[in-house]
Amino acid sequence: MISSDQQISPPPLPAAPVSDQPPLVSVRNLHRAFGNVHAVRGISFDIYPGQVVGFIGANGAGKTTTMRILATLDLPSHGSVTIKGHDLRDNPRAVRAAIGWMPDAYGAYDHMTVLEYLDFYARACGLKKHQRAERIDDVMAFAELGPLANRMVNKLSKGMGQRVCFGRMLLHDPEFLILDEPAAGLDPKARIEFKNLVRLLSARGKTLFISSHILSELGEMCDSLLFIDNGQLVHHGSAETLKTGTTNGTATYCIHVADHPEKLAEWATVQPGWEPLETLRNGARLRCSLSKPEDIAASLRRLVLDGHNVTEFHREERRLEDAFVEMIKARK
Ligand code: ATP
Repeated sequence: MISSDQQISPPPLPAAPVSDQPPLVSVRNLHRAFGNVHAVRGISFDIYPGQVVGFIGANGAGKTTTMRILATLDLPSHGSVTIKGHDLRDNPRAVRAAIGWMPDAYGAYDHMTVLEYLDFYARACGLKKHQRAERIDDVMAFAELGPLANRMVNKLSKGMGQRVCFGRMLLHDPEFLILDEPAAGLDPKARIEFKNLVRLLSARGKTLFISSHILSELGEMCDSLLFIDNGQLVHHGSAETLKTGTTNGTATYCIHVADHPEKLAEWATVQPGWEPLETLRNGARLRCSLSKPEDIAASLRRLVLDGHNVTEFHREERRLEDAFVEMIKARK
């Protein structure tokens, strides 16, 4: 437990429900301290059935600590976690039946083939003989492990090992999958294959919680993102909201014109709410501090009436990396 002289911040409210169904996972005011190191400091969030949620944070932010607690491998110092209605302190066995866990590093035993390894884990999950054969076949087909069946598990490449670990996680057909840095160390082709597997699992109705440092990749895969910094949640929302958000209250617009791109900068200099950033071969990038859609529409009208032959006018998306860095800066 946390000692009385340590500060426990009030639990921030989780993001608004995204579904009529109750959350599959509820985390409330979760803390984990290791001596003086406060790895997780009062985080709360919900994950709804069928969601693919990305968990993003810098090294040491508290991702693995949080995930290990959700996977019932560690206990919170304070706070609660409920998965499929079961509190993980009161009923860890029921929680384990509902979750699949893919750690960032997995232990491979000597003298064991991939098939033997999966069979070993299927037994550990309590699957009976006929179920084992069926589940192993299904998992091997799904994760394309067939060609590796007779390879020694401790002699596989990084990508192959990740696939075996991925298959292992699915053996008991869990509903909620927790994946800690699953794409770390994979080459571009293996990353694409991994993304496809995530999509297929999502299509099968699985709920996924995936950590990564690679924001752009998570943005593509996930319908919701959780950002953690120094043990606290700094954002919970969709990648789209972040990409279309503003930077210090401003957005960047890219405008193309049929002729005289240099005149766009002059125009922006005298327009309230606009300033030039960069002249392009066929247009310009302008910073805009107007927030109301009608004000932006009026600017576009003025631009055309002022004689600019506009061929394109669009707001640039923010890179997720920029959104994340900005959020962290805003907290300092
Ligand atoms: P990374 O991306 O580098 O894996 P992370 O976000 O997963 O980082 P955690 O592994 O959760 O971060 O670590 C959060 C903090 O808790 C770090 O300061 C880490 O050193 C500390 N920590 C984690 N586990 C322990 C432990 N068993 N004993 C002491 N400190 C720990």
